[in-house]
Amino acid sequence: MISLYQLKHLVFKSALLVLDAPGIRNLGNLLISRKGIILTGHHVLPDANNDYRENFCPNRMLELCPEFLEQAILTVRKEGYDIIALDDVPEAIKSANKKFVVFTFDDGYRDNILHALPVFEKHNAPFAVYIPTDFIDGHGVIWWKIIEELIARNKEISVDMGGDIQSLPCISVSDKYVAWDKVYWFLRDQKPDFQQRWCAEHAEKHQLDIKQLCADWIMSWDELKTFADNPLVTIGAHSLSHPALARLSEEQALLEIEQSGRVLEERLGKKPATFSYPIGDAGAAGEREFRLAEQAGYDMAVTTRKNLIRGGESLYAIPRVSLNGYYQSVKFLRLFLGGLPFWLWSLLRKD
Ligand SMILES: [Zn+2]
Repeated sequence: MISLYQLKHLVFKSALLVLDAPGIRNLGNLLISRKGIILTGHHVLPDANNDYRENFCPNRMLELCPEFLEQAILTVRKEGYDIIALDDVPEAIKSANKKFVVFTFDDGYRDNILHALPVFEKHNAPFAVYIPTDFIDGHGVIWWKIIEELIARNKEISVDMGGDIQSLPCISVSDKYVAWDKVYWFLRDQKPDFQQRWCAEHAEKHQLDIKQLCADWIMSWDELKTFADNPLVTIGAHSLSHPALARLSEEQALLEIEQSGRVLEERLGKKPATFSYPIGDAGAAGEREFRLAEQAGYDMAVTTRKNLIRGGESLYAIPRVSLNGYYQSVKFLRLFLGGLPFWLWSLLRKD
């Protein structure tokens, strides 16, 4: 039993393999001009492989193993890209120098220190981490991990689906994925204050310690300070509380964007030059948020809209390409670097 999300990716993977046919794979490199690519990851964990069928690991798309990360560094260099520091991107877009890749990781997971840093140090490659400051403060509501834990730890959960109280069995892995699909997609569409309230109520009902969960997964300020002092590491801002900014009032959205940069500057002694919109898709960040990030004084802001950097796009709507845990193979990485999947997707969306 797999979840709808996993099924979607299996279908997408099959379609991608068609593009990997001889003669087609390099078409993107020939047809699509590019200045560079910013890659996005989240966790780097030793056991993050592709075998998701036997265990309940619904957030696997956010997890990469260090071996794949190492392959990714070697592959981008072999394909002729320079790995550059995040803050150098605005200049690199303007110049006609060699095409570039930037590695970024969102959310400030401690495993970035434990398992990503050694790989980047081994290959002397820079990388960046985007920080939601409430998470480092220890009171982040990581709602997608809270749902995972609620389902993983219980044989049944009682959930409030917008006034409709439902009991969801969570005995088998298959039960757990059915419960996940239901709760995840319900909660993902809610406003941030509703998500926070919902998580607090349900965690209390099922004896889950949200603060401990945050402390278990996220760096402390001391860890972040040491990490940020590493010359290979760049820190960017990723809001205070990690909300979908487009669902907030303009005043609240500006506060999240501006204040997170200020907090990082106060704690780390350096103002972050760039911002990453939480969630970052078209529903979470649009024209208003792009304007607010510029108003807040950042040099650049990144989305999770999937594309290569072609040059000419707004510096406050820079696309990225996900290093997704379901696509941990050099074959998929090369296809993404080629850009053909995104180009075809943009054609389909215009029709
Ligand atoms: Zn994030």
